[in-house]
Order: sequence, then C-alpha cells, then structure tokens
Amino acid sequence: MRYAVFGNPIAHSKSPQIHAAFAAQFGLADFQYDKLLAPLDGFSSAVHEFVAAGGAGCNVTVPFKEEAFRLAGSLSARAKAAGAVNTLQLLEDGSLFGDNTDGAGLVADLLRHGALEGKRILLLGAGGAARGTLLPLLAEAPALLVIANRTEAKARVLVDEVVTPWLAATALPVARLPQYGVATFDFLVGGVPLELQGGADPLHELGAHGLQFDVVINATSASLGGAVIPLADAVFAPGALAYDMMYGKDETPFLAQARVAGVTTCIDGLGMLVGQAAEAFALWTGRRPDVAPVLASLRAAL
Ligand code: NDP
Repeated sequence: MRYAVFGNPIAHSKSPQIHAAFAAQFGLADFQYDKLLAPLDGFSSAVHEFVAAGGAGCNVTVPFKEEAFRLAGSLSARAKAAGAVNTLQLLEDGSLFGDNTDGAGLVADLLRHGALEGKRILLLGAGGAARGTLLPLLAEAPALLVIANRTEAKARVLVDEVVTPWLAATALPVARLPQYGVATFDFLVGGVPLELQGGADPLHELGAHGLQFDVVINATSASLGGAVIPLADAVFAPGALAYDMMYGKDETPFLAQARVAGVTTCIDGLGMLVGQAAEAFALWTGRRPDVAPVLASLRAAL
C-alpha cells in the first residue's frame, strides 16, 4: 500500500511520521507513506505518475488543495463545501475520490475536550481552513456559530455558500438548528451589535452584553505576520475553550491572548493535524487509529 503527501514546500511535513505511527498500531508492514515535492506547475502530473507507480492515495497540502479539488473525479460533501481537497483515494475504476479531512480533524480534537452541542462558537477567519471546518462544526449542532473576519464580505460568502445550503438540507430538528451571524472585528471589541439568523427563533440581535462564546477558534493566519486580533476579554465565556489552528513549540500569540483574558483551556492545532491524518488513514485502510499516543510523541518532539 503506497501513500504520500504532496506539497511545495514539503520538507517540514510531519505526515510521514504520523502515518507510520498509525500503520504500526495495526502492524501494517506494507504501508508506505512518503513526502513528495510537486513542482508548482506540475501537481496533477505528479499525482498521475504516483498512481501509475502503484500509489493508492495521497494527502495534499499547500498550495495544491484547490487543484486537488479540481483533479478529483468525485468528491465528499465536506470536500465540496470546503472547495478544497486534502485527501485523494484511488477508486477501483481508476478515478480519484477527493475528501477534505481538515475540519473533521479539528472537530475530533475539540471533542476530546468536551461536546460542541448547544455551545456558542466564534470562528475567527474566513479563508480555506475556516471554510473546511464549517460542515463538521455545524453537524455538532452548536447553539450559535459566528464567523468573524477582517474582510467581512469573505465571511458572508461562507454563509451563503456553506451555512445556508447546509441549513436547508440538514435533518436536524428545528429546535436544534444553530443560529449564525457574520461579524467584523469591530464586533469582537463590542463596537457593533450583531444580527443573527437561522435557528428556531426568528432574527434577533446580539448586543455587546451578549458577546460571549464557549469556544473561540482562530482560523486566521494573523499570527504568521505577528498581528494580534482585536478581541475583548468578554468574548470568552466563563470556562471557554480557545483553539488556535496554528501550532508550534511556543505558545501561539492567539493562545497567549486568550490566557491573559482568563481562559484556562488553550489548545493549539497539532491535534487537528493528527486528527485530519487519522481521518485520511481511516478512509484508506478502514481502520481508525488511536490519535492520543501519536499526538503526545509529536508534541514531545516539537
Ligand atoms: P487563508 O490564507 O486561506 O486565510 C487566511 C485568513 O486569515 C483570512 O481569513 C484572512 O483574513 C485572515 N488574516 C490574515 N492576516 C490577518 C491579519 N493580519 N489580521 C486578521 N486576519 C488576518 O489561510 P488558511 O485558511 O489556509 O489557514 C489559516 C490558518 O490555519 C493558518 O495559520 C494555517 O497554518 C492553519 N491551518 C492549520 C491546520 C492544522 O492542521 N493545524 C490545517 C489548515 C490550516 P482576510 O480574509 O481579511 O484576508
């Protein structure tokens, strides 16, 4: 069984060690997983060459997730919603099935720290990572999902293209439908009220005094450039969880900000990384690995 991760750059990828650890859990001696650098203009031919040489599936990382989406002959619902593919699987008819396991990886990691049902979730960011998490988050039936982004229009696109169609199609009973809203960063400092939609109740407004969330997820890349997101401490409800999709040896700027605001459960995105890999591994092999020991050893090696 030959698998790989494609990216550019790719040297930094931890995926081979994660998948090797998963394979060891099941004694899959013939499971092989490599990291492969694809040329920026040669992703699809690199994947086709890999498949022709016996590859059964692959992960896809920056900057090829949208190209993988277009390459796939069929797509999972969550990949369609994400508009991006991070996992390809060769089907028996020779075509490629595209999935997106990033959001499921995030949700699995969040669920290790408590249920999301009935929670108020604030999602910061409206880029590819935020988009990919929407369906898995909504499926957990939170009470409220607010998407706040520096560029508000991009958050609105996510609502129009992902949240609204999901609400129209979901089998969740009306009483459990989440409310949702789109916010600018002004809202995060209590500057402007927020109009909510969806849910069992008609439209209503979330004013400054309602600015409280049980789960706050940073899906922006603000920290990469050293920027801090303007956030009133009140955004974090008592007992809130702060999650940063970024991870590293040191505490991320967002998690440091949350800790100063009084949050005690601060989690970085290393578990999301291992979680998305576990979902891909399960798709390919039909086996669901134990994430915890792999996460612990990765953490120790950061
Ligand atoms: P995108 O480039 O698609 O989106 C970036 C987002 O960050 C946009 O919402 C953008 O806002 C916002 N942003 C960028 N700079 C700033 C700033 N200075 N202040 C406020 N907001 C800013 O990136 P991705 O969605 O692909 O990735 C987002 C993060 O998630 C990255 O840090 C990435 O490493 C991480 N990630 C982690 C994964 C994991 O497994 N742990 C998996 C995937 C991603 P605007 O729309 O206004 O430009």
